[in-house]
Amino acid sequence: MLTVAWLVALLLGAVALAYVNASGIVWTVALGAALGIAWGASLLPAWLSLALAAVFVLLAIPLNVTALRRMLISDGVLALYRKILPPMSQTEREAIEAGSVWWDGELFSGKPDWDRLLTVARPALTPEEQRFLDVETQELCELITDWETTHVHRDLPQHVWQFIKDKGFLGMSIAKEYGGLGFSGYAHSQVMTKLSTRSGTVAVSVMVPNSLGPAELLAHYGTDAQKRYYLPRLAKGIEIPCFALTNPTAGSDAASIPDYGVVCWGQHEGKKVLGLAVTWDKRYITLGPVATLLGLAFRAYDPDHLVGDKEDIGITCALIPTSHPGVEIGRRHMPLSAVFQNGPNWGKNVFIPMDWVIGGQPMLGRGWRMLMECLAAGRGISLPSSATGMAKLAVRATGGYARVRSQFKTPIGKFEGVEEALARMGGTLYMMDATRALTAAAIDIGEKPAVVSGIAKLHLTERARQVVNDAMDVVGGKGICMGPSNFIGAAYMQVPVAITVEGANILTRSLIVFGQGAIRCHPYVLKEMLATREHDPTQASVAFDAALFGHLRFAATNAARALVLGLTGARFVAAPAKAAPEARRYYRELGRCSAALALLADVSMAVLGGALKRKEKLSARLGDVLSLLYLCSATLKRYEDEGRPAADAPLLHWALQDALFKTQHAVDGVLSNFPNRFLAAVLRRLVYPLGRPYAPPSDKLGHDVAKLLLEPSATRDRLVAGSFVSKAPDDPVALIELALVATLAAEPIEAKIRAAVKEGRLDAKLPPGGGLDALVARAQGQGVISAAEAQAVIAARELTAKVIRVDDFAQDLGTAGQRPLDYRHRHQQAPAAPVVHRAAA
Ligand SMILES: Cc1cc2nc3c(=O)[nH]c(=O)nc-3n(C[C@H](O)[C@H](O)[C@H](O)COP(=O)(O)OP(=O)(O)OC[C@H]3O[C@@H](n4cnc5c(N)ncnc54)[C@H](O)[C@@H]3O)c2cc1C
Repeated sequence: MLTVAWLVALLLGAVALAYVNASGIVWTVALGAALGIAWGASLLPAWLSLALAAVFVLLAIPLNVTALRRMLISDGVLALYRKILPPMSQTEREAIEAGSVWWDGELFSGKPDWDRLLTVARPALTPEEQRFLDVETQELCELITDWETTHVHRDLPQHVWQFIKDKGFLGMSIAKEYGGLGFSGYAHSQVMTKLSTRSGTVAVSVMVPNSLGPAELLAHYGTDAQKRYYLPRLAKGIEIPCFALTNPTAGSDAASIPDYGVVCWGQHEGKKVLGLAVTWDKRYITLGPVATLLGLAFRAYDPDHLVGDKEDIGITCALIPTSHPGVEIGRRHMPLSAVFQNGPNWGKNVFIPMDWVIGGQPMLGRGWRMLMECLAAGRGISLPSSATGMAKLAVRATGGYARVRSQFKTPIGKFEGVEEALARMGGTLYMMDATRALTAAAIDIGEKPAVVSGIAKLHLTERARQVVNDAMDVVGGKGICMGPSNFIGAAYMQVPVAITVEGANILTRSLIVFGQGAIRCHPYVLKEMLATREHDPTQASVAFDAALFGHLRFAATNAARALVLGLTGARFVAAPAKAAPEARRYYRELGRCSAALALLADVSMAVLGGALKRKEKLSARLGDVLSLLYLCSATLKRYEDEGRPAADAPLLHWALQDALFKTQHAVDGVLSNFPNRFLAAVLRRLVYPLGRPYAPPSDKLGHDVAKLLLEPSATRDRLVAGSFVSKAPDDPVALIELALVATLAAEPIEAKIRAAVKEGRLDAKLPPGGGLDALVARAQGQGVISAAEAQAVIAARELTAKVIRVDDFAQDLGTAGQRPLDYRHRHQQAPAAPVVHRAAA
């Protein structure tokens, strides 16, 4: 009996020591004491006690004496690591090392420090930025309609382009000293969000010069002369930039572009100068057809060693005026139903002087690192903001529409089936907007969060797609028939653009989020990898030993935490003191999920090693857990930042419960498909010792969320804050807003009429063709309602009629007499694979 008690105490003690991440010496003393007790109290047979004591001494000495431990254990493991670790190319290394680790590191730690998150200042606009949003951005939105842009002009009209240039929209992210607006990431994000509630075309046209493109690259890596010349011109729209990386053969795998430039001497402005003869073939390049300045990525080669020893110098970025002889540019692609400028460009043996390379000759071959670093920040703003803008438009307009559109004498938004879609839309948007704002805030405090910005891009664009799909289902035929009255069809068609660009979503989910996250955010993995590449044997041994044993303790801690938090339902861990009482349980649950993620990540990496890179479905699910933890963190922070408004609580609860349920689904997917079934069973016991804990948001909660979308309120205003609503009398979104107010005002009056009918005071029998209007007139005539009330009911009916109408066109849809589109497939000849190319004589 005593022996059993000793064994139980030993087990509990081990879990407790692991839980608190006890040091090696504490483990040694505790185990020594336990064995001493067993020996003294004769709890074990003497031979067993002796054997255990021998094993203990044999292990404790090398484990506690670092030099011995390195020699006997770590150096051997290091040698093994060196053999099995897949080789990492320079490009992969640059991609992995780009940017900084921020809150994602906490989420990977198994024990996030919530105070670190909650003390990040709430993002805010300066008065100047606020004015720009309220005046210039508002005016730009008023100037365009998506329908006219897309179907009439097939471009932004000239006066809109001029307005964009004159007001500095193309230079929001350029510093004031160069004539730009010098806006924060958050201000940039607010402008993008608002523009996207109006027109995808204008949003994309403004987005590109402000995100990954010539200005961003120049600001970080340009020479002084390049900055002084180009930045003021870009800020004022004198130059229209584009950035060309994608080649027909290298889309997602952009590092393998075959476009090349050979270092050589050539003639430029009458002088013989050193430069590059560049050959390229690019497609999908946004703003390309109207660009005056082409940012070009290609691989530089130096076969004649004119600049150094290396022949293959690596990816290089240059700025080439599109008027330069040999630059072929101007034709357009048609990206779905959006008419932002996008097209191919190419050139063959085009000589450019060396000082057109961004940063000049010293930056030859540094292009990939430049792109990765800029992407780390840029990806976190533009696409997440435009995705959120689309979702705001969808939620505002669809919520209003679902309230004014009735079927079966009931507003469609009150049917449970529709309610389900509306709840999803509302809860999802709440989380999206929170994530957008937090990610911009991170960039404004100086982070370049590569993993977080990938998460924001991937999940916000996916969620925008889901919100817009739901909106399409709710509005029915009204969403399908295109025309100026359709408020959602254009977004539906354009949403895949955001899914594809700046890292297509399947790739980002399968390869990047966890692949980069596990290495960058894990406290020890990158240290271990770097140690394997250390040339000095002593330094490698010391660094690897520290990382390896830190890693082992980290893994044990997370296993213990996952188990203890699972057994206790995370009830006894402290939530941050600052947190709202109604939100505290979520902090605890997220702590539990963080421990589970850290454990699963470690075991997956240990078991699968380099093969995890190919096990994309597992990697994607682990990435989903990390992503959901980030989205949840942002949502909790938003709730605190906005002062915990009680009326918004349903949105918080829905978003968090939905995300926790999805996290569980992702964990379940990892466990069900884990190749080692024994380990999978052990992991399941550790992560879910009492079964799966999370359920999806209840129907009642969904009902509460859907209700928030169906009538005006401070909560609805916060949910769609920053979206544009036109003052034009026929604008479809403006009409919905008016109809919504009018419908709500008319409802009590209609109730009076119904009551009068029920009580027999009003005869509801009407002659054929007599509708509600006739009944209203009769009610007014008989004094059931006043003239003003009658007018209110009629006004609501008229507005609703305008809201539900769809557009119709002449039978030929206006095409008669037009010549067919001049399309062609230019014979695209991919440059040869990147072998060394000799300079032309
Ligand atoms: C409208 C538009 C604007 C663009 N603007 C620009 C621009 O301004 N400048 C520029 O340089 N480029 C631009 N692009 C190019 C864009 O970045 C590429 O389209 C993108 O990189 C994907 O390349 P791809 O279309 O060739 O798809 P592919 O690379 O052929 O990918 C097809 C599918 O395979 C998936 N996939 C690929 N590899 C993997 C993998 N290892 N694991 C899992 N899934 C994988 C992708 O996720 C995708 O779903 C633009 C594209 C579009 C459509």
